[in-house]
Amino acid sequence: MSDIDGRAVAKALRAEVAAEAARLRAEGIVPTLAVVVPTDDEGTAWYVRSIRKAAEKEGIDCRVEHLKAAPPNSVGLDEIVAKLQELSADPAVHGVICQTPLPEGVTLSQVGGYISPFKDVDGANSESLGRLAAGLRTFAPATAAAVLELLKREDLTLEGAKAVVVGRSTVVGKPAALLLLNESATVTVCHSRTKDLAAVCREADVLVAAVGRAGMIGADFVKPGATVIDVGTNPTEDGGLVGDVDYEAVAPIAGRLTPVPGGVGPVTTALLLRHTVVAAELTKTHG
Ligand code: NDP
Repeated sequence: MSDIDGRAVAKALRAEVAAEAARLRAEGIVPTLAVVVPTDDEGTAWYVRSIRKAAEKEGIDCRVEHLKAAPPNSVGLDEIVAKLQELSADPAVHGVICQTPLPEGVTLSQVGGYISPFKDVDGANSESLGRLAAGLRTFAPATAAAVLELLKREDLTLEGAKAVVVGRSTVVGKPAALLLLNESATVTVCHSRTKDLAAVCREADVLVAAVGRAGMIGADFVKPGATVIDVGTNPTEDGGLVGDVDYEAVAPIAGRLTPVPGGVGPVTTALLLRHTVVAAELTKTHG
């Protein structure tokens, strides 16, 4: 088994992003990513800091919009929508993301529609998902795009391959399945009601785990030699992170496997940055 090195892929992608950002800056365009943060969640704060650091390192300005409500109230739908509309209309901003978790009662599908599809660098607008389903050019959610990016850099043929995606969320499972389908893989999507999940997964040449349950994909889920992409990020008690795949059990069976951390995560961040420079480039034709 060989590990798929997400950090190395991310490094290569970020070098490309830095070159593109420098080119845009030389033309007077400062690629800018706006991150709307509607809660005080600690995990989010850490993630947003890491996005900002990565963006600024590669020449992308990062504007963090931390929305605050007077306690005991939380930020409401109207405030989030107003901020997303404002940023979507701002010509100095090229990419807009709305960070989860959202305040209770607010969903990403609800607010995503207020992000201009031209600036929707994390594929939150359902129009972006629709375009993906139609096989049209669009921004896929960065995590789903990271799954495909990692696979495409491996020496394997997706056309005709049997791919199984475990998880059907609109941010990961569904768009990952659509991207694989667009590559002509034969795709099965599994979820919490799937019967005999292990047997379905064992059919896969390419297995994508996007569930959010530590170590649930065991040895009996994996066909010998299969390529396994572990999207799961599950915090451990000692402050670490583990995937959905039981790494120790699966490593001797899989042909290739992404570690957690160091697999999908860094590539997701790099693609968010790549999408932002692509969005900045688009302003030349779309204003
Ligand atoms: P969701 O909770 O939105 O979706 C989880 C999916 O898993 C659902 O479709 C659910 O099925 C399915 N599921 C739950 N339990 C089972 C089970 N026992 N058997 C089969 N399927 C099951 O999670 P997300 O899609 O947002 O995230 C998935 C994982 O990916 C999480 O660990 C998350 O932290 C991680 N993640 C990682 C990112 C990265 O950059 N590395 C970015 C985004 C997410 P059903 O629909 O039937 O409920």
